[in-house]
Amino acid sequence: MHNKTITEIAHDLRTKKISSVELTQHYLDRIKQFSTLNSYITVTEEQALVQARVADERLKSKDAALLTGIPIAQKDIFCTEGIKTSCGSKMLDNFIAPYNATVVEKFNQSGAVMLGKLNMDEFAMGSSNETSFYGVAHNPWDAHAVAGGSSGGSAAAVAAQLAVAVTGTDTGGSIRQPASFCGITGLKPTYGRVSRYGMIAYASSLDQGGTMSRNAEDAAILLQTMAGFDEKDSTSAQKMVPNYSENLNQDLKGLKIGLPKEFFSEDLDSEIAATILNAVEEYKKLGAEIKEVSMPMLKYAIPAYYVIASAECSANLSRLDGVRYGYRCENPKDLDDLYTRSRGEAFGAEVKRRILMGTYALSAGYYDAYYIKAQKTRRLISEDFKKALNEVDVLMGPVAPSTAFGIGEKTSDPIQMYLADIYTIAINLAGLPAMSVPAGFVDNKPVGLQIIGNYFKEAQLLNVAHQYQQVTNWHQKIPEGFQ
Ligand code: GLN
Repeated sequence: MHNKTITEIAHDLRTKKISSVELTQHYLDRIKQFSTLNSYITVTEEQALVQARVADERLKSKDAALLTGIPIAQKDIFCTEGIKTSCGSKMLDNFIAPYNATVVEKFNQSGAVMLGKLNMDEFAMGSSNETSFYGVAHNPWDAHAVAGGSSGGSAAAVAAQLAVAVTGTDTGGSIRQPASFCGITGLKPTYGRVSRYGMIAYASSLDQGGTMSRNAEDAAILLQTMAGFDEKDSTSAQKMVPNYSENLNQDLKGLKIGLPKEFFSEDLDSEIAATILNAVEEYKKLGAEIKEVSMPMLKYAIPAYYVIASAECSANLSRLDGVRYGYRCENPKDLDDLYTRSRGEAFGAEVKRRILMGTYALSAGYYDAYYIKAQKTRRLISEDFKKALNEVDVLMGPVAPSTAFGIGEKTSDPIQMYLADIYTIAINLAGLPAMSVPAGFVDNKPVGLQIIGNYFKEAQLLNVAHQYQQVTNWHQKIPEGFQ
Protein backbone atom coordinates (compact mmCIF):
# COMPACT_ATOMS: atom_id res chain seq x y z
CA MET A 1 0.00 0.00 0.00
CA HIS A 2 2.89 2.36 0.77
CA ASN A 3 5.11 1.34 -2.11
CA LYS A 4 3.42 3.69 -4.57
CA THR A 5 3.86 7.07 -6.23
CA ILE A 6 1.54 10.04 -5.77
CA THR A 7 -0.15 9.41 -9.11
CA GLU A 8 -0.76 5.75 -8.28
CA ILE A 9 -2.19 6.56 -4.86
CA ALA A 10 -4.34 9.37 -6.28
CA HIS A 11 -5.77 6.78 -8.67
CA ASP A 12 -6.44 4.30 -5.85
CA LEU A 13 -8.22 7.03 -3.87
CA ARG A 14 -10.43 7.87 -6.83
CA THR A 15 -11.29 4.28 -7.66
CA LYS A 16 -12.08 3.70 -3.96
CA LYS A 17 -9.45 1.00 -3.64
CA ILE A 18 -8.57 2.75 -0.43
CA SER A 19 -9.78 5.79 1.52
CA SER A 20 -7.57 8.59 2.74
CA VAL A 21 -8.45 7.68 6.34
CA GLU A 22 -7.24 4.09 5.81
CA LEU A 23 -4.13 5.26 4.04
CA THR A 24 -3.35 7.84 6.72
CA GLN A 25 -3.84 5.26 9.48
CA HIS A 26 -1.51 2.91 7.64
CA TYR A 27 1.25 5.54 7.54
CA LEU A 28 0.65 6.50 11.19
CA ASP A 29 1.08 2.83 12.11
CA ARG A 30 4.32 2.61 10.13
CA ILE A 31 5.65 5.75 11.83
CA LYS A 32 5.07 4.02 15.19
CA GLN A 33 6.52 0.74 13.98
CA PHE A 34 9.74 2.41 12.81
CA SER A 35 10.01 5.06 15.50
CA THR A 36 13.64 4.11 16.25
CA LEU A 37 14.62 5.85 12.99
CA ASN A 38 13.73 9.08 14.81
CA SER A 39 12.62 10.73 11.57
CA TYR A 40 9.70 12.62 13.14
CA ILE A 41 9.88 15.21 15.91
CA THR A 42 6.08 15.52 16.16
CA VAL A 43 3.41 13.18 14.82
CA THR A 44 0.08 14.98 14.37
CA GLU A 45 -2.09 11.89 14.49
CA GLU A 46 -5.41 13.51 15.39
CA GLN A 47 -5.14 16.41 12.96
CA ALA A 48 -4.03 14.02 10.21
CA LEU A 49 -7.12 11.84 10.61
CA VAL A 50 -9.36 14.93 10.58
CA GLN A 51 -7.66 16.11 7.37
CA ALA A 52 -8.08 12.62 5.90
CA ARG A 53 -11.80 12.59 6.62
CA VAL A 54 -12.19 15.99 4.98
CA ALA A 55 -10.15 14.72 2.03
CA ASP A 56 -12.39 11.68 1.62
CA GLU A 57 -15.38 14.02 1.37
CA ARG A 58 -13.59 16.23 -1.13
CA LEU A 59 -12.61 13.21 -3.22
CA LYS A 60 -16.29 12.52 -3.80
CA SER A 61 -16.68 15.94 -5.41
CA LYS A 62 -15.11 17.20 -8.61
CA ASP A 63 -12.75 19.71 -7.03
CA ALA A 64 -10.19 17.28 -5.58
CA ALA A 65 -6.57 18.07 -6.40
CA LEU A 66 -3.96 15.43 -7.20
CA LEU A 67 -2.60 15.68 -3.64
CA THR A 68 -6.01 15.49 -1.94
CA GLY A 69 -5.87 12.75 0.68
CA ILE A 70 -2.16 11.99 0.18
CA PRO A 71 -0.16 11.70 3.44
CA ILE A 72 2.87 14.00 3.40
CA ALA A 73 5.02 15.53 6.14
CA GLN A 74 6.78 18.84 6.69
CA LYS A 75 10.34 19.53 7.76
CA ASP A 76 10.07 21.07 11.24
CA ILE A 77 11.40 24.36 9.91
CA PHE A 78 8.03 25.28 8.35
CA CYS A 79 5.62 27.05 10.70
CA THR A 80 2.41 25.11 11.27
CA GLU A 81 -0.44 26.91 13.00
CA GLY A 82 -1.30 25.45 16.40
CA ILE A 83 1.41 22.80 16.08
CA LYS A 84 4.87 22.75 17.64
CA THR A 85 7.51 24.11 15.24
CA SER A 86 10.89 23.41 16.83
CA CYS A 87 13.42 23.83 14.03
CA GLY A 88 15.31 21.02 15.77
CA SER A 89 16.20 23.29 18.70
CA LYS A 90 15.66 23.42 22.43
CA MET A 91 15.14 27.15 21.83
CA LEU A 92 11.81 26.45 20.08
CA ASP A 93 10.88 23.24 21.88
CA ASN A 94 7.89 25.06 23.41
CA PHE A 95 7.00 27.12 20.32
CA ILE A 96 3.54 26.66 18.85
CA ALA A 97 3.46 28.58 15.60
CA PRO A 98 0.63 31.12 15.39
CA TYR A 99 0.41 30.91 11.59
CA ASN A 100 1.17 28.64 8.64
CA ALA A 101 4.14 28.99 6.31
CA THR A 102 2.99 29.68 2.74
CA VAL A 103 4.23 26.22 1.73
CA VAL A 104 2.12 24.60 4.47
CA GLU A 105 -0.86 26.72 3.46
CA LYS A 106 -0.51 25.56 -0.15
CA PHE A 107 -0.36 21.89 0.83
CA ASN A 108 -3.42 22.42 3.03
CA GLN A 109 -5.31 23.98 0.15
CA SER A 110 -4.44 21.03 -2.07
CA GLY A 111 -6.05 18.75 0.52
CA ALA A 112 -2.86 16.86 1.36
CA VAL A 113 -2.80 15.22 4.81
CA MET A 114 0.07 16.23 7.10
CA LEU A 115 1.35 13.32 9.21
CA GLY A 116 3.73 15.43 11.27
CA LYS A 117 6.95 17.42 11.52
CA LEU A 118 10.28 15.96 10.52
CA ASN A 119 13.59 15.83 12.34
CA MET A 120 16.40 18.13 11.23
CA ASP A 121 19.70 19.63 12.34
CA GLU A 122 19.25 22.52 14.78
CA PHE A 123 18.19 25.57 12.74
CA ALA A 124 19.24 23.59 9.63
CA MET A 125 22.91 23.90 10.56
CA GLY A 126 24.62 20.61 9.92
CA SER A 127 25.15 17.79 7.45
CA SER A 128 24.17 14.77 9.52
CA ASN A 129 21.09 15.57 11.62
CA GLU A 130 23.34 15.12 14.65
CA THR A 131 22.95 18.71 15.85
CA SER A 132 19.20 18.17 16.39
CA PHE A 133 18.01 18.70 19.98
CA TYR A 134 15.87 15.59 19.37
CA GLY A 135 18.77 13.34 18.43
CA VAL A 136 20.06 11.91 15.17
CA ALA A 137 17.80 10.53 12.43
CA HIS A 138 19.02 7.07 11.46
CA ASN A 139 19.62 6.02 7.88
CA PRO A 140 17.16 3.27 6.82
CA TRP A 141 19.94 1.68 4.72
CA ASP A 142 22.23 1.35 7.73
CA ALA A 143 21.05 2.15 11.26
CA HIS A 144 24.61 3.07 12.31
CA ALA A 145 24.93 5.66 9.56
CA VAL A 146 23.57 9.20 9.48
CA ALA A 147 20.65 10.07 7.23
CA GLY A 148 22.47 13.25 6.19
CA GLY A 149 21.47 16.79 6.97
CA SER A 150 20.04 19.07 7.66
CA SER A 151 16.84 17.45 6.25
CA GLY A 152 17.82 14.03 7.66
CA GLY A 153 14.39 13.23 9.08
CA SER A 154 12.78 14.11 5.75
CA ALA A 155 15.09 11.84 3.76
CA ALA A 156 14.81 8.93 6.20
CA ALA A 157 11.00 9.20 6.23
CA VAL A 158 10.76 8.95 2.43
CA ALA A 159 13.31 6.12 2.19
CA ALA A 160 11.53 4.12 4.91
CA GLN A 161 8.13 5.04 3.44
CA LEU A 162 6.85 6.81 6.52
CA ALA A 163 5.25 9.45 4.26
CA VAL A 164 4.49 9.45 0.55
CA ALA A 165 6.60 12.55 0.02
CA VAL A 166 7.90 15.41 2.13
CA THR A 167 9.38 18.89 2.13
CA GLY A 168 12.94 19.91 2.88
CA THR A 169 15.00 23.07 2.78
CA ASP A 170 18.40 23.61 1.28
CA THR A 171 20.81 26.38 2.29
CA GLY A 172 24.02 24.63 1.28
CA GLY A 173 22.94 21.09 0.41
CA SER A 174 20.36 20.10 3.01
CA ILE A 175 17.93 18.58 0.52
CA ARG A 176 20.40 17.03 -1.90
CA GLN A 177 22.93 15.51 0.50
CA PRO A 178 20.41 13.62 2.70
CA ALA A 179 18.53 12.60 -0.48
CA SER A 180 21.79 11.14 -1.78
CA PHE A 181 22.54 9.39 1.54
CA CYS A 182 19.05 7.84 1.72
CA GLY A 183 18.58 6.96 -1.96
CA ILE A 184 15.66 9.27 -2.72
CA THR A 185 15.01 12.12 -5.17
CA GLY A 186 15.59 15.66 -3.86
CA LEU A 187 14.99 18.96 -5.62
CA LYS A 188 16.31 22.32 -4.50
CA PRO A 189 14.57 24.90 -6.72
CA THR A 190 15.98 28.20 -7.95
CA TYR A 191 16.30 30.78 -5.17
CA GLY A 192 12.95 32.61 -5.12
CA ARG A 193 10.90 29.85 -6.79
CA VAL A 194 9.26 28.81 -3.50
CA SER A 195 8.12 31.27 -0.83
CA ARG A 196 10.23 31.47 2.32
CA TYR A 197 7.39 33.00 4.33
CA GLY A 198 7.05 31.06 7.56
CA MET A 199 10.14 28.99 6.84
CA ILE A 200 12.40 29.72 9.79
CA ALA A 201 15.35 31.69 8.43
CA TYR A 202 18.90 30.37 8.63
CA ALA A 203 20.73 32.27 5.88
CA SER A 204 18.07 34.21 4.02
CA SER A 205 19.98 34.78 0.78
CA LEU A 206 20.63 31.04 0.42
CA ASP A 207 17.62 29.24 1.98
CA GLN A 208 15.19 27.57 -0.38
CA GLY A 209 12.37 25.11 0.27
CA GLY A 210 12.05 22.10 -1.99
CA THR A 211 10.88 18.55 -2.46
CA MET A 212 11.99 15.10 -1.29
CA SER A 213 10.24 12.17 -2.89
CA ARG A 214 10.61 8.74 -4.43
CA ASN A 215 11.06 10.01 -7.96
CA ALA A 216 11.07 13.02 -10.26
CA GLU A 217 7.45 12.51 -11.25
CA ASP A 218 6.36 13.05 -7.63
CA ALA A 219 8.78 15.96 -7.28
CA ALA A 220 7.04 17.67 -10.22
CA ILE A 221 3.67 17.36 -8.48
CA LEU A 222 5.04 18.69 -5.18
CA LEU A 223 6.84 21.62 -6.80
CA GLN A 224 3.67 22.52 -8.70
CA THR A 225 1.95 22.91 -5.33
CA MET A 226 4.77 24.80 -3.62
CA ALA A 227 6.05 27.18 -6.30
CA GLY A 228 4.94 30.70 -7.14
CA PHE A 229 5.09 34.33 -6.18
CA ASP A 230 4.06 35.24 -2.65
CA GLU A 231 3.49 38.82 -1.68
CA LYS A 232 4.55 37.92 1.86
CA ASP A 233 8.08 37.09 0.64
CA SER A 234 9.74 39.95 -1.23
CA THR A 235 12.43 37.62 -2.60
CA SER A 236 9.94 35.21 -4.15
CA ALA A 237 10.02 35.43 -7.93
CA GLN A 238 7.26 37.06 -9.98
CA LYS A 239 7.52 34.37 -12.61
CA MET A 240 4.92 32.13 -14.11
CA VAL A 241 4.93 28.55 -12.82
CA PRO A 242 5.00 26.13 -15.78
CA ASN A 243 3.21 22.79 -15.77
CA TYR A 244 6.01 20.54 -14.53
CA SER A 245 4.24 17.19 -14.98
CA GLU A 246 3.29 17.93 -18.58
CA ASN A 247 6.90 18.56 -19.48
CA LEU A 248 8.17 15.19 -18.31
CA ASN A 249 8.24 13.38 -21.62
CA GLN A 250 10.76 15.30 -23.68
CA ASP A 251 13.45 13.15 -25.23
CA LEU A 252 17.06 14.02 -24.45
CA LYS A 253 18.53 13.90 -27.95
CA GLY A 254 21.06 16.67 -28.25
CA LEU A 255 20.92 17.61 -24.56
CA LYS A 256 24.29 19.11 -23.66
CA ILE A 257 25.67 17.90 -20.34
CA GLY A 258 28.68 19.59 -18.76
CA LEU A 259 30.96 17.76 -16.34
CA PRO A 260 32.84 20.28 -14.20
CA LYS A 261 36.32 18.89 -13.93
CA GLU A 262 36.66 20.33 -10.42
CA PHE A 263 33.92 17.90 -9.31
CA PHE A 264 36.02 14.90 -10.27
CA SER A 265 39.30 15.64 -8.53
CA GLU A 266 41.20 13.06 -6.45
CA ASP A 267 39.19 14.12 -3.35
CA LEU A 268 36.23 12.20 -4.73
CA ASP A 269 35.92 8.55 -3.71
CA SER A 270 36.81 6.52 -6.83
CA GLU A 271 33.77 4.24 -6.58
CA ILE A 272 31.46 7.24 -6.30
CA ALA A 273 33.17 8.76 -9.33
CA ALA A 274 32.62 5.51 -11.25
CA THR A 275 28.94 5.46 -10.23
CA ILE A 276 28.44 9.02 -11.46
CA LEU A 277 30.23 8.28 -14.74
CA ASN A 278 28.00 5.22 -15.24
CA ALA A 279 24.97 7.47 -14.91
CA VAL A 280 26.49 9.83 -17.47
CA GLU A 281 26.88 6.82 -19.82
CA GLU A 282 23.13 6.21 -19.52
CA TYR A 283 22.54 9.78 -20.59
CA LYS A 284 24.78 9.24 -23.62
CA LYS A 285 22.58 6.30 -24.58
CA LEU A 286 19.59 8.62 -24.29
CA GLY A 287 21.19 10.90 -26.87
CA ALA A 288 22.95 13.47 -24.70
CA GLU A 289 26.29 15.03 -25.60
CA ILE A 290 28.95 15.30 -22.91
CA LYS A 291 31.41 18.10 -22.52
CA GLU A 292 34.02 18.84 -19.88
CA VAL A 293 33.76 22.31 -18.36
CA SER A 294 35.90 24.09 -15.82
CA MET A 295 34.84 26.32 -12.96
CA PRO A 296 38.04 27.46 -11.27
CA MET A 297 36.31 29.52 -8.57
CA LEU A 298 34.51 26.49 -7.11
CA LYS A 299 37.35 25.84 -4.71
CA TYR A 300 36.43 28.98 -2.77
CA ALA A 301 32.81 27.94 -2.24
CA ILE A 302 33.17 26.44 1.25
CA PRO A 303 35.00 29.39 2.86
CA ALA A 304 32.75 31.95 1.14
CA TYR A 305 29.63 30.03 2.20
CA TYR A 306 30.64 29.69 5.83
CA VAL A 307 31.32 33.42 6.12
CA ILE A 308 28.04 34.42 4.44
CA ALA A 309 25.82 31.76 6.05
CA SER A 310 27.25 32.45 9.51
CA ALA A 311 26.89 36.21 9.07
CA GLU A 312 23.25 35.87 8.03
CA CYS A 313 22.43 33.36 10.76
CA SER A 314 23.93 35.60 13.44
CA ALA A 315 21.48 38.30 12.36
CA ASN A 316 18.49 35.97 11.90
CA LEU A 317 18.89 34.20 15.22
CA SER A 318 19.25 37.42 17.21
CA ARG A 319 15.44 37.53 17.51
CA LEU A 320 15.60 34.45 19.75
CA ASP A 321 16.44 36.29 22.94
CA GLY A 322 14.18 34.79 25.59
CA VAL A 323 11.86 37.79 25.48
CA ARG A 324 9.30 37.26 22.74
CA TYR A 325 8.90 33.51 22.34
CA GLY A 326 10.87 30.32 22.71
CA TYR A 327 13.05 29.27 25.61
CA ARG A 328 13.52 31.57 28.62
CA CYS A 329 15.99 30.84 31.41
CA GLU A 330 14.73 30.63 34.99
CA ASN A 331 14.96 33.56 37.41
CA PRO A 332 17.01 36.00 35.32
CA LYS A 333 18.83 38.60 37.44
CA ASP A 334 18.49 41.35 34.86
CA LEU A 335 17.96 41.82 31.14
CA ASP A 336 21.55 40.91 30.21
CA ASP A 337 21.32 37.74 32.25
CA LEU A 338 18.01 36.91 30.54
CA TYR A 339 19.57 37.27 27.09
CA THR A 340 22.80 35.48 27.75
CA ARG A 341 21.47 32.59 29.78
CA SER A 342 18.42 32.00 27.58
CA ARG A 343 20.64 31.83 24.50
CA GLY A 344 23.45 30.04 26.28
CA GLU A 345 21.18 27.34 27.66
CA ALA A 346 19.01 26.81 24.59
CA PHE A 347 21.37 26.89 21.59
CA GLY A 348 23.52 23.87 20.79
CA ALA A 349 27.28 23.98 20.15
CA GLU A 350 27.10 24.21 16.34
CA VAL A 351 24.60 27.05 16.38
CA LYS A 352 26.77 28.94 18.88
CA ARG A 353 29.83 28.38 16.73
CA ARG A 354 28.06 29.86 13.70
CA ILE A 355 26.72 32.85 15.63
CA LEU A 356 30.21 33.60 16.95
CA MET A 357 31.81 33.26 13.51
CA GLY A 358 29.10 35.37 11.90
CA THR A 359 29.19 38.12 14.49
CA TYR A 360 32.96 38.27 14.14
CA ALA A 361 32.80 38.43 10.34
CA LEU A 362 30.31 41.30 10.51
CA SER A 363 32.10 43.33 13.17
CA ALA A 364 33.62 46.70 12.38
CA GLY A 365 37.17 46.24 11.14
CA TYR A 366 36.59 42.67 9.88
CA TYR A 367 33.55 43.29 7.71
CA ASP A 368 35.57 44.24 4.61
CA ALA A 369 38.14 41.52 5.10
CA TYR A 370 35.62 38.69 5.51
CA TYR A 371 32.03 39.53 4.61
CA ILE A 372 32.69 41.78 1.60
CA LYS A 373 35.40 39.46 0.36
CA ALA A 374 33.04 36.48 0.64
CA GLN A 375 30.32 38.36 -1.27
CA LYS A 376 32.78 39.16 -4.06
CA THR A 377 33.81 35.51 -4.19
CA ARG A 378 30.16 34.55 -4.37
CA ARG A 379 29.76 36.74 -7.44
CA LEU A 380 32.75 35.12 -9.14
CA ILE A 381 31.37 31.64 -8.41
CA SER A 382 28.00 32.64 -9.94
CA GLU A 383 29.82 33.88 -13.03
CA ASP A 384 31.61 30.55 -13.41
CA PHE A 385 28.23 28.83 -13.42
CA LYS A 386 26.73 31.33 -15.86
CA LYS A 387 29.59 30.77 -18.26
CA ALA A 388 29.33 27.00 -18.01
CA LEU A 389 25.54 27.06 -18.43
CA ASN A 390 25.96 29.17 -21.57
CA GLU A 391 27.83 26.27 -23.11
CA VAL A 392 25.69 23.38 -21.84
CA ASP A 393 22.09 22.76 -20.72
CA VAL A 394 22.79 21.06 -17.42
CA LEU A 395 25.79 20.19 -15.28
CA MET A 396 26.29 16.81 -13.64
CA GLY A 397 28.48 15.53 -10.86
CA PRO A 398 28.38 13.89 -7.44
CA VAL A 399 26.19 15.20 -4.61
CA ALA A 400 28.59 14.33 -1.81
CA PRO A 401 32.19 13.11 -1.59
CA SER A 402 31.15 9.96 0.33
CA THR A 403 28.16 7.76 1.05
CA ALA A 404 26.37 8.11 4.42
CA PHE A 405 29.06 8.20 7.10
CA GLY A 406 28.85 6.63 10.55
CA ILE A 407 26.98 8.29 13.41
CA GLY A 408 29.57 10.14 15.50
CA GLU A 409 32.27 9.84 12.84
CA LYS A 410 32.58 13.56 12.08
CA THR A 411 31.05 15.25 15.13
CA SER A 412 34.37 16.20 16.70
CA ASP A 413 35.72 17.86 13.54
CA PRO A 414 33.53 20.67 12.17
CA ILE A 415 35.74 21.15 9.09
CA GLN A 416 35.26 17.51 8.06
CA MET A 417 31.53 18.01 8.51
CA TYR A 418 31.58 21.18 6.38
CA LEU A 419 33.37 19.30 3.60
CA ALA A 420 30.36 16.97 3.29
CA ASP A 421 28.74 19.80 1.29
CA ILE A 422 31.65 20.53 -1.00
CA TYR A 423 29.67 19.73 -4.18
CA THR A 424 26.37 21.31 -3.18
CA ILE A 425 27.21 24.62 -1.54
CA ALA A 426 28.32 26.52 -4.64
CA ILE A 427 24.91 25.97 -6.23
CA ASN A 428 23.23 27.86 -3.35
CA LEU A 429 25.75 30.68 -3.63
CA ALA A 430 24.74 31.00 -7.29
CA GLY A 431 21.00 30.50 -6.52
CA LEU A 432 20.61 27.77 -9.16
CA PRO A 433 18.21 24.79 -9.11
CA ALA A 434 19.67 21.31 -8.61
CA MET A 435 18.58 17.75 -7.93
CA SER A 436 19.90 14.61 -6.34
CA VAL A 437 18.81 11.48 -8.16
CA PRO A 438 19.57 7.90 -6.98
CA ALA A 439 22.29 6.50 -9.26
CA GLY A 440 23.66 3.37 -7.60
CA PHE A 441 25.23 1.94 -4.48
CA VAL A 442 28.71 1.81 -2.98
CA ASP A 443 29.13 -0.67 -0.09
CA ASN A 444 25.35 -1.12 0.01
CA LYS A 445 24.75 2.56 0.59
CA PRO A 446 23.01 4.84 -1.93
CA VAL A 447 24.84 7.33 -4.14
CA GLY A 448 23.14 10.36 -5.66
CA LEU A 449 23.83 11.97 -9.02
CA GLN A 450 23.64 15.76 -8.90
CA ILE A 451 22.01 17.54 -11.84
CA ILE A 452 22.29 21.33 -11.91
CA GLY A 453 20.11 23.41 -14.21
CA ASN A 454 19.83 27.02 -15.27
CA TYR A 455 17.76 29.62 -13.39
CA PHE A 456 14.04 28.71 -13.25
CA LYS A 457 14.58 25.70 -15.52
CA GLU A 458 13.11 23.25 -13.01
CA ALA A 459 10.89 21.81 -15.73
CA GLN A 460 13.92 20.82 -17.77
CA LEU A 461 15.74 19.53 -14.70
CA LEU A 462 12.78 17.34 -13.69
CA ASN A 463 12.51 15.96 -17.20
CA VAL A 464 16.25 15.15 -17.31
CA ALA A 465 15.88 13.28 -14.01
CA HIS A 466 12.65 11.57 -15.11
CA GLN A 467 14.14 10.27 -18.37
CA TYR A 468 16.95 8.65 -16.39
CA GLN A 469 14.41 7.10 -14.03
CA GLN A 470 12.59 5.60 -17.03
CA VAL A 471 15.68 3.53 -17.92
CA THR A 472 17.09 2.79 -14.44
CA ASN A 473 15.54 1.47 -11.23
CA TRP A 474 17.84 2.84 -8.52
CA HIS A 475 15.04 5.09 -7.29
CA GLN A 476 12.79 2.06 -6.77
CA LYS A 477 15.10 0.25 -4.36
CA ILE A 478 13.79 -0.02 -0.84
CA PRO A 479 15.97 -0.65 2.21
CA GLU A 480 15.80 -4.08 3.83
CA GLY A 481 13.06 -4.36 6.42
CA PHE A 482 11.02 -1.39 5.12
CA GLN A 483 9.32 -3.09 2.13
N1 GLN B 1 25.56 21.63 5.94
C1 GLN B 1 25.39 23.01 5.57
C2 GLN B 1 25.39 23.87 6.79
O1 GLN B 1 25.52 23.37 7.84
C3 GLN B 1 24.13 23.19 4.77
C4 GLN B 1 22.93 23.11 5.61
C5 GLN B 1 21.67 23.48 4.87
O2 GLN B 1 21.61 23.40 3.64
N2 GLN B 1 20.68 23.92 5.60
O3 GLN B 1 25.27 25.04 6.73
